[in-house]
Amino acid sequence: MTPTARRESAALPPGAYDIDCVRCPRLAAHLGEVRREHPTYFCRPVSPFGDPRARLVIVGLAPGKHGANATGRPFTGDYAGILLYRTLYDFGFASEPESLGAADSLHLVGARITNAVKCLPPGNKPLPSEIHNCNDYLAVELSVLPEGAAILALGRIAHDAVLRALALRRREHPFAHGARHALPRGVRLFDSYHCSRYNANTGRITAAMFRRVFRAIVRHLDPERSRARAA
Ligand code: SF4
Repeated sequence: MTPTARRESAALPPGAYDIDCVRCPRLAAHLGEVRREHPTYFCRPVSPFGDPRARLVIVGLAPGKHGANATGRPFTGDYAGILLYRTLYDFGFASEPESLGAADSLHLVGARITNAVKCLPPGNKPLPSEIHNCNDYLAVELSVLPEGAAILALGRIAHDAVLRALALRRREHPFAHGARHALPRGVRLFDSYHCSRYNANTGRITAAMFRRVFRAIVRHLDPERSRARAA
């Protein structure tokens, strides 16, 4: 972990992240195998990245093998981060349009990126028990969200993990791309399809669709700024 990432994860509430966690034996064993295959890869639970006091928290699924699992920063090193960081930059939440690696100078402004599952799952498919185990960390992380904050869930698994972390019912908040869910304390949950290479290649998610979700987020977080942009 870089000094910046160490400072940021230290500023999260205690219990929001543990770099030494091995609560999921299957994932810990898988990380061991991948580490042997790729000795330079990070191969640990990947810390949330960004502003510890963020008003926007983006929740992804899990680290990608050659992306976050390699670099140690969420959505960095593979295709999934390209659209995300570009859009964060365009909407004023990132200092740079690209995340090149954990040691670059990129910082997020009022935003943080985290994952529902913090260790690389085989085939990108965590088991329900692993999502459940890791939900304790997400619950602590989301417990300090400021009033009126926004959460962006990338995909159904992230959406369900957010609801579980906040002890809310799935039935009352079904996942759908573009959906917005009013949660307690003025917090709003926004849903989007995941910005993965597969979803981009199949046209399930496009830059325009993703930008529409971000426009709605900005309208929620900062109606004044949003009105000024529209004028
Ligand atoms: S996925 Fe989460 S709970 Fe499971 S071992 Fe990794 S950090 Fe721990």
